[in-house]
Amino acid sequence: MEAMTSESPRVLGEATLAELRTRMLGPVISPGEDGYENARRIWNHAIDKHPALVLRCSGVADVISGVQFACSEGLPVAIRGGAHSIAGFSTCDGGVVLDLSAMAAVRVDPRSRRALAQGGATWRQFDHETQAHGLATTGGQMSTTGIGGFTLGGGIGYLTRKYGLACDNLLSAEMVTAEGELVRASEDENADLLWALRGGGGNFGVVTELELALHPVGPEVLGGAVFYPGDQAAQVLAGWRDAIADAPDELTTVVNLTTAPPAPFLPEDVHGKKIVAVAACWAGLLHEGEEVVRPLRALGSPVVDLLGPIPYVVLQQLIDPVWGPGAANYFTSAFLNELPEPAVETLADAHQRSAGLPATCELHVHQLGGAMARTAPGATAFSQRQPPYLINCVARTPTAEGFEANRAWARGTREAMAKFGAGQMYVNYTGDADEDKVRASYPAETYARLAAVKAHYDPANRFRFNQNIRPAQAG
Ligand SMILES: Cc1cc2nc3c(=O)[nH]c(=O)nc-3n(C[C@H](O)[C@H](O)[C@H](O)COP(=O)(O)OP(=O)(O)OC[C@H]3O[C@@H](n4cnc5c(N)ncnc54)[C@H](O)[C@@H]3O)c2cc1C
Repeated sequence: MEAMTSESPRVLGEATLAELRTRMLGPVISPGEDGYENARRIWNHAIDKHPALVLRCSGVADVISGVQFACSEGLPVAIRGGAHSIAGFSTCDGGVVLDLSAMAAVRVDPRSRRALAQGGATWRQFDHETQAHGLATTGGQMSTTGIGGFTLGGGIGYLTRKYGLACDNLLSAEMVTAEGELVRASEDENADLLWALRGGGGNFGVVTELELALHPVGPEVLGGAVFYPGDQAAQVLAGWRDAIADAPDELTTVVNLTTAPPAPFLPEDVHGKKIVAVAACWAGLLHEGEEVVRPLRALGSPVVDLLGPIPYVVLQQLIDPVWGPGAANYFTSAFLNELPEPAVETLADAHQRSAGLPATCELHVHQLGGAMARTAPGATAFSQRQPPYLINCVARTPTAEGFEANRAWARGTREAMAKFGAGQMYVNYTGDADEDKVRASYPAETYARLAAVKAHYDPANRFRFNQNIRPAQAG
């Protein structure tokens, strides 16, 4: 597999490691030690890399020690939050992985409707704390995704249309720079850094704390999915597009063209067959939502209708069981300006051609707009605010077998669909790390501004395992 790069890990001397251990509270895991095999791995097993060290940071002091150590040894740093990077940015060959998973504390101030969360928290941990107060912010549609990578890359979820992207809710952040210095970014302090962190990814340093705005949500929302037979995909997609055209912001939906898993909530006779899931979240008053979601129940002949009142935290964890770690995964995406009949036909055709079980080849069509589209372009580094749709083409196989063919299918489908937009990808939904694709994900002026911020905080590009922004050259 192309993504499966692997090198012999660099071996650091015993004395060097012993000295580092005196400066770290969390475990220092080097090649050959117990736990190294597990520590070098991330969620996506298409990625098989061998870092020189994995440092399980216990707090900010460990992060500073880890960055300073990497500097003194001349090693690059991979930052790991929830480890969901599809491109494999949270591990590396020969560098230092700063694993933040033990830094997962979340503190909520219900009065000011703000949460302070450590940089390694997942959405499960975040939602658990915030929902105790009936509050939430835009999080991922799987609870094991890290709030760090998700928010810094934009963050699209069920609350996007009502409350904006996750990065729009980032009020301030605490970050360790490439020099090992702790800085704060807010509207009043290092405002350019805050702007860059709102969509520019993990390029600028290790974000040890995120302050996120919270909003009243749930505890029950109207959510779940209506499933339709795969041969009705074109009809369902076209009907969905028309049904949501003027939907209120409280409604966020996503269509998933997939193969029915052998799950108890689906009738046995559809297991292994092509199926269409129209997933939705209505984050308003439940009785008002019933009327709004009604058309989603009548886009074809439903196989099963599982859309109803559901606790928000349950909705956020609904697909966790089918998306566990260990498989080979690839995502590629495109923002779309329109979904005319040829686009609908292209998606329906790709769906029919997709590999079935045990592979999971899916086409997700996200509904965007609402609050996300009302933030001024240029106000944040995340720039693709106007397109009403985003497609994510997903290839997933239990092992390496069949992965390449399915990845080629995902890439081909993305290419066939790109003409319905301006060609930009969503940095959080891309398994590629080519410089031209990163540049193409941002308008030229946004990229230039990001490059200037990068040059200020990480001029040597020590944090290069990300959708990498090259530091602007001085002069
Ligand atoms: C199963 C699955 C479901 C997903 N669902 C959604 C979804 O609903 N909506 C959506 O928008 N995206 C979704 N994504 C994409 C997800 O947002 C990105 O993969 C995101 O980068 C993951 O963040 P992480 O912290 O889990 O990953 P990691 O692999 O730990 O990190 C990803 C990137 O962010 C950087 N990073 C992480 N934490 C920090 C930090 N604290 N400081 C600095 N840099 C950091 C890393 O260096 C790396 O470059 C999903 C991905 C997967 C695999």
